Parts: sequence; structure tokens; C-alpha cells
Amino acid sequence: MTVIDTHAHIIVPEILRDAKPTEEWRPHVVWDNGKQFVEYGPKRIASATREFVQIETILDEMKNAEVDAVLLCPWVSLVRYEATPEESLDACQIQNDALSTLAKKYPDRIAALGMIPLQDVPLAIQELERLMKSGLKGVEIGTHVNGAYPGDARFRPFWEACESLGVFVFIHPVEGGGRAELRDYYMWNVIGNPMETTVAAGHLILSGVMAAYPQLKILLAHGGGALPYLHGRLDRGFKQRLEINKVITRPPTEYLKQFYFDTITHDAAALCELVNLVGEDHVLLGSDYPFDMGNENPVGLVRAANLGAETEKNILGKNARHLLDWEV
Ligand SMILES: [Zn+2]
Repeated sequence: MTVIDTHAHIIVPEILRDAKPTEEWRPHVVWDNGKQFVEYGPKRIASATREFVQIETILDEMKNAEVDAVLLCPWVSLVRYEATPEESLDACQIQNDALSTLAKKYPDRIAALGMIPLQDVPLAIQELERLMKSGLKGVEIGTHVNGAYPGDARFRPFWEACESLGVFVFIHPVEGGGRAELRDYYMWNVIGNPMETTVAAGHLILSGVMAAYPQLKILLAHGGGALPYLHGRLDRGFKQRLEINKVITRPPTEYLKQFYFDTITHDAAALCELVNLVGEDHVLLGSDYPFDMGNENPVGLVRAANLGAETEKNILGKNARHLLDWEV
């Protein structure tokens, strides 16, 4: 059985400042006293604690964690939603092309998701079509695009394209939601990031996107945030409120089950509950490599949940192989 990690990040060397020193927006990745830092704009980020750039080292790390193959995606901040669409497209294309090359070089070990400049939907769809032709499996998008959440009407053509092209979409939190009080105690990450995913997925359900495009393949980061825990409350709202039940015709929990969820809950009981709620065919192994909030032993967490041999196989690799149409 092939174990597949579906949530892991890389900064491809091609996008580093070293590759084009005159472009100041590009990130620097430096090692200082055995610690890795990502210098990006005014920030110096220390949360990527394991190798972020060199693919051979990343693959060794995967092997050490009993992971045979990985669905790689970029570091979400490098999509550059805050820049012009053309600047963002440039950053996306550098990464998409590099990831496509990596997937071709290691077809049994690497598949990849690209990025698109979603602040300009027509341009984003053009790049989506191009990257799918280049052999990528889909795209990683942020939980919001400069404040616009994914159920917004402007994104409908994007969702339509994703459904018709069979794009695998990974929704990943950006910046923990940006609320000032979340700057304390690392709350922007431990709470803000999963809440971002909760809001984005809730927006897709309640706006009717999940109802309109039932074939979408969308992966939610970090076990879907709080959404699996809040599903009863959403269903209650559906019964009580016109602004919900005039848009969708079935209880939100039914649409919730259309999503896919990674295993990054850091708690075996929570993972077990997730599997019970959404089904064993909708949960995929993930690690959030190389971040400090990732799981160094993702396979161990799945085993600790005692889900039974068949369920374990599905979550560790079979579901991903089927969804990504990847013969590994
Ligand atoms: Zn991540």
C-alpha cells in the first residue's frame, strides 16, 4: 500500500530571491544556527521548522515518516493576492512550472497542486487550464482573496471551471484571519487558521456553491477546522432562517459531506469523530510539512485512532490515489 501525504508545502528554488535578486518581493530562505527562517517582505518567519526548499531532503523526511508519496503545494503566502493580477500570475507560473517539472521527475513520489491569481477570475481560469495541461492535479487557494470568501458570486465561473476540468482544490488558510487579538499567544495560527477554514467552507455551503457544483473535489485543511463540530448548529440555522433555507434546499451537513478533510487534528478522538461524521472515503492523510503546527508522525495519528484496517488504508492512501487519479 502506498501512503500519500496530501498536505505538504515546498518553496521551489526557482522562486527564491537568489534566482532573481533584483525582484525584491521574492522570499529568502536562510538557515541560522540550525534554524530555518523565511524572509518575506517585512516578515522573518520561523514557523517552517523543517527543510522547505531542497526536494531530496523533503523526500527523505517523508520516507522517515513512512510516507511513500506526496501531494506538494506551495506556501500559500506566495500566491500574492495583494499584488496586481499580472504580478501574482508571474509568481504562480514560476511555481506551477517548477512543480510540474518535479512531478515529472519523480512520478511515483510527487504529484502537485499549483496556484492561480484569483483576484482576477478570468486570468485565474486561463492559468488553471494551462497548469492542468502541464500535469498538475489542481490548485491550492486561500480561504479568502483580499477579503472575498469563496462563495462570493464573482468566483462562480472559477468553481464551474474546477468542476468541468476535474480540478482538485485545496483550500488553505491565509494569515489566520487578521484579527488583532489573535496576535497574542500564537492564536492567529492555533485558532485563527482553523477558523478561516471554517468560515470559507461554511460560505461555500451556505451560498449554494456546494449545491450548484456537487462534483467539486475540495480538500479542507486542518480537519475542516471547527466545521465538523458546528454542523448541528448550521442545520439548526437552516431550519430557522430564511437567509439560509432560501438558498439551499438540504441541511448544511449534507453539503459538508461533499468536502474532503485532511487528518491534521492532533487528536485521535477528534479524527475518529471526523471519520464518523463525513465517512472514511472523505478523509485524507496530511502532515502540514514543514511547519511547527504540522504533524511529524501523521501515520501514527491515524493508527492511534483505531479505525480498523480497511478504513486506515483508505485514509492513508487509497482515497488520495482515487481522487487524484494517481497510479502509485
Ligand atoms: Zn499548510
